[in-house]
Amino acid sequence: MAKECENESCSKESCEGCPSRQGKPDFSEPLNAHSSVKHVIGVVSGKGGVGKSMVTSLLAVATAKKGYKTAILDGDITGPSIPKAFGVNARPVAGEKGLEPVCSEKYGIKIMSTNLILESETDPVVWRGPVVGNMVKQFWSEVHWGEIDYMFVDMPPGTGDVPLTVYQSLPVESVIVVTSPQSLVKMIVEKAVRMADLMHIQVSGIIENMSYLECPDCGKKIPVFGESQMDEIAQEYGISSVARMPINPKLAALSDMGTIELYEDHALEPIVDKVIDKQEQE
Ligand code: ADP
Repeated sequence: MAKECENESCSKESCEGCPSRQGKPDFSEPLNAHSSVKHVIGVVSGKGGVGKSMVTSLLAVATAKKGYKTAILDGDITGPSIPKAFGVNARPVAGEKGLEPVCSEKYGIKIMSTNLILESETDPVVWRGPVVGNMVKQFWSEVHWGEIDYMFVDMPPGTGDVPLTVYQSLPVESVIVVTSPQSLVKMIVEKAVRMADLMHIQVSGIIENMSYLECPDCGKKIPVFGESQMDEIAQEYGISSVARMPINPKLAALSDMGTIELYEDHALEPIVDKVIDKQEQE
């Protein structure tokens, strides 16, 4: 049969299914040849400092607790804080199958982050967008993840160049949006949700972090950053899984001490149940 493709290096006989024929360039990065990752879930926020890394860590812990093989790819290349929360600081070792990720102590969560490969964890990462994007791709293709059920990607903040590269390079199946309850947040969350929509990625949940502070004496919930707008946003975009996380000094302390795996609150479990159950059924 005559070859249809004009690209000399293409070995396929038929053009059916080829992304270039559908007008969509394919930017996807191949996964490390010795690894298999069943589900990739992105954790996004429209802006920094809302607790995206904290939530990524807690989602991974809740998933690993259920017995799934879990990993975190720290895509927040210029502000990596995952290793610190888990108290891991061993240098990843290069093996025959790729760079070996570092495992968390209690639940064996596999972690890769720029912080693990810097000379010192206080070195600033002063890299331009394309370099940052390439780093995320290398974490996907050159790290020997092994067999993983759920990989959480702590996405670079915002809706710019770098998150776009991640969306295009990694097979992100769904995203969880992290927000805080300030008034400008509605607009910022909407941007994150619409960016996921544009990339045809499902938003499987919204987590409102720092939602309230519970008075240790009377138990009253104080909305420190203002009233929640989460239900309104979730309804507008048809997102059924929502969760609220209080401001909790204990949580901040555990993260600072590198013992996030010891946190026993169950605020995120309902969202993990829903997201995972849904993923398992598909
Ligand atoms: P982001 O990844 O969005 O930049 P981080 O996860 O690094 O944000 O969180 C920013 C800071 O806020 C960290 O010091 C973290 O320990 C703290 N923090 C996040 N969520 C909470 C919370 N629910 N209660 C107390 N401190 C929190």
